[in-house]
Amino acid sequence: MRRLLLLSVAFQLLPLHASAQQDLFDRYFDKGCLRVDLHHTGIGEDEVYAIDALIREPYWAGNPRNLIDDMNLGEHIVRVFDLATNTLVFSMGYCSVYAEWATTDEALGGGAKTFHESLLMPWPKAPVQIRVEKRDGRNIFRSVFDLTVDPADYHITTESRYSHFKVKKVMENGDPGSKVDIAILADGYRSDEIHKMENDVEKFMKILFGVEPFRSRKSDFNVRLVRSVSGQSGVDNPRESKYRDNLFGLSFNSLELDRYMLSLENRTIRDVAAKVPYDQIIILANEQKYGGGGIFRLYSTCVSDNEFDGYIFVHEFGHAFAGLADEYYSSEVAYNEMYPLDVEPWEPNITTLLDPERIKWGHLIAAGTPVPTPDDSIHAGATGAFEGAGYSAKGLYRSSHDCIMKSKTLDGFCPACREAIERMIDFHTR
Ligand SMILES: [Zn+2]
Repeated sequence: MRRLLLLSVAFQLLPLHASAQQDLFDRYFDKGCLRVDLHHTGIGEDEVYAIDALIREPYWAGNPRNLIDDMNLGEHIVRVFDLATNTLVFSMGYCSVYAEWATTDEALGGGAKTFHESLLMPWPKAPVQIRVEKRDGRNIFRSVFDLTVDPADYHITTESRYSHFKVKKVMENGDPGSKVDIAILADGYRSDEIHKMENDVEKFMKILFGVEPFRSRKSDFNVRLVRSVSGQSGVDNPRESKYRDNLFGLSFNSLELDRYMLSLENRTIRDVAAKVPYDQIIILANEQKYGGGGIFRLYSTCVSDNEFDGYIFVHEFGHAFAGLADEYYSSEVAYNEMYPLDVEPWEPNITTLLDPERIKWGHLIAAGTPVPTPDDSIHAGATGAFEGAGYSAKGLYRSSHDCIMKSKTLDGFCPACREAIERMIDFHTR
């Protein structure tokens, strides 16, 4: 009952909150995007950021009514302050390849590695302080890097690369400021494979918008394809010494996991994506071998021609778009203690807590459902807390018997995932 009351109060406050944020945008920001490119180096336990470039891009596709990200998702958060008044004017949580690498044997053994990363924000009218924070072992954000940027600085480049790539509008439903804008980039497609590229995109859009809640919320999305072409077909596969001239350098065996397919060529990804307004990047690999990857608010990747490609596409988009965790728990992964059992994960679809009053999706659990919930035929369709999630068979719980984040199925997202996806769509559109 108390929960219901709180919800109705929050709902009444929403319009006021939204218009106040629109005022914030008009006061501090202009059209366009400030992109801060950074080299992020990890050496054992230490990490260092260095500025690579400052770039003015034509589009910022975010929601001007939601400049402050209060969802508390992601391993990092960037906070932007108006320098003159010390006012928080923008924030956004996100994840990085760096944060995943930092949990691998290579990193824990003292190895060093540099990753290229970008921070994106609406174009500030006046000098800003930009702060990057990262979660510590207790999941509390700690400041790791600060810089100031004066938008009048003549070092800020407006150079537009890859101007020969053409854009195809796959689905247009309205202004980027009130839609989820997806940029699809293609990797490992030669210039004579553009027809296949476009057909592959059509195939995956049918699959994605056939799954709830994307099906019901389809009109909240814009989808644009940048017809990015590579010199050769396919992507890199180190375990078979197969290296291709693919534009984004997508590669299997990322973080030494064969099916994990990431790109470390962030600058190229951002330069190509900048041709369209985007909130979310999907990189499609012209490949048959099973593989994909998804990092929250960075990108998702998927192969084009595998028997499970539809499932991979939707599953990885779930990671990248809504910050969903994996719900499976029996397969080999590269991470060490990804989720310490005495810290509640920030991901919306897994929990260490067993008190229905405190579980993130507790309001979805019907009265009388036992918690933990036995994974038997009686509770097969129930929403509860089922043990086994986040690569751990014990101590981590998911909301449902099955989910697209758990097994190779397109049968649907569990209730916790569905609600998290809806929340994210709302964040971009309301
Ligand atoms: Zn789920």
